[in-house]
Amino acid sequence: MAASALNCKVGKTPFIYLGLPVGGNPHRHSFWKLVIEKFRSKLVSRKGKLLLIGGRITLLTSVFSALPLFYFSILKVPKGILKELIRIQKNFLWGTSDESKKIAWVNWERVCLAKNKGGLGNPNLAIKNIALLGKWWDKFYDDAENEKLWKKITISKYYSGTSIVSISNTTSSKISAIWKDILSISRDCERNTKCFSEGFSRQLGDGYGTRFWKDAWVETSPLMLVFPRLFKLTLGENLLVADLKPTKGEGWILQWRRPPFGRELDELQILEDILQNVSIFVGKSDQFIWKHCPAGYTTKMAYLFLDMSPPCLDIFYCKLIWSHLIPTKVSVFSWRLLLNHLPTKDNLIQRGIDLASRFGCVLCNGYLEDANHIFAICIYSQSIWSRICCWWGFSLVFPDKALDLLTQLCSLPVPQDVKDCWVLSIFTTTWAIWYFRNGIAFNKLEWDEDNLIELVKTKTFAWIKGKLKPAAFCFSD
Ligand SMILES: [Zn+2]
Repeated sequence: MAASALNCKVGKTPFIYLGLPVGGNPHRHSFWKLVIEKFRSKLVSRKGKLLLIGGRITLLTSVFSALPLFYFSILKVPKGILKELIRIQKNFLWGTSDESKKIAWVNWERVCLAKNKGGLGNPNLAIKNIALLGKWWDKFYDDAENEKLWKKITISKYYSGTSIVSISNTTSSKISAIWKDILSISRDCERNTKCFSEGFSRQLGDGYGTRFWKDAWVETSPLMLVFPRLFKLTLGENLLVADLKPTKGEGWILQWRRPPFGRELDELQILEDILQNVSIFVGKSDQFIWKHCPAGYTTKMAYLFLDMSPPCLDIFYCKLIWSHLIPTKVSVFSWRLLLNHLPTKDNLIQRGIDLASRFGCVLCNGYLEDANHIFAICIYSQSIWSRICCWWGFSLVFPDKALDLLTQLCSLPVPQDVKDCWVLSIFTTTWAIWYFRNGIAFNKLEWDEDNLIELVKTKTFAWIKGKLKPAAFCFSD
């Protein structure tokens, strides 16, 4: 009746508001259907399978990672949903579709590493989710948010009757699933606890906003927990730091029910030592700070703090392959080469592909084809490297590992101003050798050394020209 009087329709929960289901249970799979569908549809509409790997990675790290931000910054995504979203990302990256299944050449943890750790810099959705939810912790502790409606409602619902010491100390037993999830991020693992419960602490200004015994300000816990004997003895349980601060020539004004003795005196001695190092800043308000970054909490810094994954590639190589001159497709190719995740014949055999007797090098019909053979040992590629080095005025002793060869090449004493161009020509050469190897393996083309060298030179020139100022140099340089 009320609805018809107001000229409104009668709806039911959950319903969609601002693209998000309202009233549903975010722990249920059905709640996330919409997000998964959106995620998937972007993929189909972009015709991902038509893009080359470089384009797919750009799309993956920009568009697809930005897409769930809206949901991820409010809701803690259930593990099953994360798995589903990651599966969609993985399939997109490696080109798997309903019609054809492709090999995922590099494991997903590595793909999600930062570029300087040997990954592709695709964000880990689980960590990103936690870092985004942590923003609510930051806002909660931020006095600038005090007058915002969300904070007023949250405090009156879950923290009424307390002077807030910690976001975790709610006074209500009925907490919404969303707020409960936001509070729970700190308990997921030790690193999260360090980031959130222990990460935010009170920084003293004039002392008028901090309770001496009940807020955590000099220690990670409130002094009432650190010195329980003294707390029982104090006369002012709720006094502020400003009430007890030292005045000229005097120490801290601590008052007791009776003089402390025995172990109370030991506690007092430690407390006085701690208080000696405290400074009061007149005219500056007390505030919460996030310990892990002087500039305060940001999602990016929290992500870096939470991501404990060890690197899988030396920073030396990471810097080289992601140099600004190298096009993405060559960077990605080099990344796979350095991690030994190219579809060379040895790698195909390891993944259970039956090559019958066709496991030898397609260039020299020699031994088992692996990355070391193709790029460092095979006489055909050695001849290419010799000519490339001759082009730059170097001679070379060939090691038997592709990685050693690349290290040696990249460490040659090239003048600093052309170092990037030299590195580009090295990785362009590896890319061109592989390109020609594929031509022979799949299109029955012939090995043509002159043609390959020409390709390296023209591509190197074109890619440099595309990135540097016009007319900085010409082809003959
Ligand atoms: Zn060979």
